[in-house]
Amino acid sequence: MSTIARVETFVVSQKLRHPFHFSQWGFDHRAVCLVRVTADDGRYGWGEGYGPADVVRAGVEFFAPLILGGDGLRTGALWQQMHARGHDFARRGVLLAALSAIDVALWDLKGKILGVPVHMLLGGKRSDAVSVYATGMYFDDEPNLTARLATEAAGYVAQGFHAVKMKVGLGVEADAVNVRAVRAAIGPAVKLMIDSNHAFSLREALDLVRRVEDCAITWFEEPLAPDDYEGYRELRRRSSIPIAAGECEYGVAGFHQLFGAQAVDIAQPDICACGGFTEGQRIAALARAHSVAVTPHCWGTGIGFAAGLHFLSTIDLLPGRLRLPESFLEMDRTENALRDELTQPRYPVIAGRVTVPDAPGLGVEVDLLRLADFSGPAK
Ligand code: CA
Repeated sequence: MSTIARVETFVVSQKLRHPFHFSQWGFDHRAVCLVRVTADDGRYGWGEGYGPADVVRAGVEFFAPLILGGDGLRTGALWQQMHARGHDFARRGVLLAALSAIDVALWDLKGKILGVPVHMLLGGKRSDAVSVYATGMYFDDEPNLTARLATEAAGYVAQGFHAVKMKVGLGVEADAVNVRAVRAAIGPAVKLMIDSNHAFSLREALDLVRRVEDCAITWFEEPLAPDDYEGYRELRRRSSIPIAAGECEYGVAGFHQLFGAQAVDIAQPDICACGGFTEGQRIAALARAHSVAVTPHCWGTGIGFAAGLHFLSTIDLLPGRLRLPESFLEMDRTENALRDELTQPRYPVIAGRVTVPDAPGLGVEVDLLRLADFSGPAK
């Protein structure tokens, strides 16, 4: 028994030196809600929620009283307790992200109590390192955006990445020009993914597929609105490029709907939003039954990245064979001091791969001085 004594939230934020945008809106700052769950013996675990930071914080404060005094080792029972109370409101959306933040912190704590890494709690890592891809190539006001995107992509390859993901969603003509330029810049051997953040209609998405299908695209991410399951089904049936989605999907019931519609080749749950490790395991099991690949979405601090890293390192690779297919974890490369300065380790990329931590729990240390620096209004 390890009694939960305290649940704290920390909203951290950072003003960006170089604002950027994607197909939907722009960023001039970043803000994340972190959670620390502390047991009565002083041990603690960290989590984070993916979503609007102040709303995540309100959600964590809603759930916190339900787990205080509970046994920190009983992660599944605590999850049920929170979900039962929040079920009317937490089936999807930011309240489930708040529950996820607490769940991730509980798994970190549980690993530390038992002296094992989270990947061991999940069943054990398949190998000591996982492949990662660089997420970048966002839009800005640079007059020659196409050249800037190509240069940025080549830079990731020079840093050792074997796979990169670029944004699309400006419009199919402009997107096709940018994709061709990036493909030319990185050469034929590097994997290239495209992500529209649900910018397109079905016809536009099909148009873009036809314009870039000779560019060896590994997947087309979020081509359509997340709720357009029928559109996804039709697009996937007609697209020569594999279809990926899931960062806007929540819970095993949400993914059940996605898989039931035969909407995706690749599912991208965010452990800090989909329901944490507890629900992530159920989603992975369901994906396996539907022969859908799983590669988590990650877009936060080193805590969320560690969560994705542990999770992906244990996911079954399908189909099974002597030389297994490769699976990639998202590694956001946009300006993010919350990722680069708040936590250790920094996860060096060596030959396109990142080592899975073996320290107890998530294996992440939060720098409390930097935490204080980043708390309060963005600066
Ligand atoms: Ca995305």
